[in-house]
Amino acid sequence: MTTLPQSAEVIVVGGGIVGLSVALALAEAGAKPLLLEAKSFGGAVTGGSLAAIGTHMHGLAEYGVMAHACDLWRAFAERTGNPFEHTAQGQVGFILDAEGMESGEGWVAEERALGAPCRMLTPAGLAEVEPRLTGPVLGATFAPDTATVNPFLAARTVLAEARAAGAVALDHAPVAGLLVEAGRIAGVCMADGAEIRAGQVVLASGPWSQEISVSAGVCLPLVPRQAQCLAALRQPPGTIRRIVSAVESRGGVASGYTQIQQAGSGQILFNTVVDFIETPPEAKDTVREVPSGFVLTSIDTLATLFPSLAEIPLLRSWVRFEAVSPDARFLAGAVGPEGLWVCAGDNGSGYCRSLMLGRFLAGEIIGAALLPGALQADARALYAPQRFTQVAA
Ligand SMILES: Cc1cc2nc3c(=O)[nH]c(=O)nc-3n(C[C@H](O)[C@H](O)[C@H](O)COP(=O)(O)OP(=O)(O)OC[C@H]3O[C@@H](n4cnc5c(N)ncnc54)[C@H](O)[C@@H]3O)c2cc1C
Repeated sequence: MTTLPQSAEVIVVGGGIVGLSVALALAEAGAKPLLLEAKSFGGAVTGGSLAAIGTHMHGLAEYGVMAHACDLWRAFAERTGNPFEHTAQGQVGFILDAEGMESGEGWVAEERALGAPCRMLTPAGLAEVEPRLTGPVLGATFAPDTATVNPFLAARTVLAEARAAGAVALDHAPVAGLLVEAGRIAGVCMADGAEIRAGQVVLASGPWSQEISVSAGVCLPLVPRQAQCLAALRQPPGTIRRIVSAVESRGGVASGYTQIQQAGSGQILFNTVVDFIETPPEAKDTVREVPSGFVLTSIDTLATLFPSLAEIPLLRSWVRFEAVSPDARFLAGAVGPEGLWVCAGDNGSGYCRSLMLGRFLAGEIIGAALLPGALQADARALYAPQRFTQVAA
């Protein structure tokens, strides 16, 4: 068993892709972080992700920081020799009705005005970029620059780079609470009662960050939301060429957002989120079954969009928990007592933002702008936890 250190300069709680990215950026800035993960690195929502990296249909306010987030993933792949399968296969947003067409055209016009290379496709154009998508689609949006990464391999690469830069990262090290002395953070208390002292603590524990923050009197407005995925048996490469997502908010599945893609392994993956399913507090310790209704509507949608794939056998399914904030944006910045920071609230697309958020938050902690130009200030304005009155300044 690993011996815990007695102190650290900065402690990062949570070894998903966000905590790993914060630890990497801190280590590269010379801050010697200690990363504490309750279970295994990348084993929570991070490992269950489809990990699409792109700006398309993520909201115009975040466009600048999201575009930089995508650049950081491209540069990270180049620097490390791309052991995590960063591949720019492009993203198709399918449209099933006139309302969706109006929405798709609106997204494309606004993103193009900001410099994005997306465009509209007619059904004939769609047949060229996604030949098997032969269902009753009126048209599509197309973002050729959206990429994917393998979520496990990317998390492992960030971990290895963080360690190489000087981070100490320990798994099976659950944090129980925060130590506060004279109104400022003094460290963390581990589940086994041990204390580790530190002047700065970052909560990157996803939907469960709130469980830890309350010990310092901080209420974070984050709730867990189920995201679920079906995986089919391997299919020949190029069966589905792009990331296929729904422009219409409901996407053809009874409730939620739809995303279909083929993993590097060849498996066809079908993801959706289900809003407002109550999540019991003990959910993080259980393996949840995907509801049968989700399976049926997913198969229906897949068979409607890709009739030639109607018979592919399913292999497995999984449910993971995303952290949802009231305005669907991260909380990243200082909270509560001096020395306490949060970086959580992924709202289902935290993989894409993670390297950018890691650099942003590391910059705030060491007092330097690690994002270029105005982006550090932009990120501060977008993600400030103080936009919610529940969070103490
Ligand atoms: C099916 C699916 C598809 C997705 N598709 C995309 C996509 O295409 N693009 C995209 O950008 N995002 C996508 N996402 C979302 C993305 O995976 C998440 O936004 C991202 O992984 C969040 O990372 P995180 O580090 O914040 O959270 P997590 O991975 O949940 O990490 C938090 C970590 O904190 C640890 N922890 C909790 N409590 C404690 C404690 N007390 N002490 C120590 N450690 C603790 C947990 O064990 C966990 O490992 C998808 C998610 C799913 C499920």
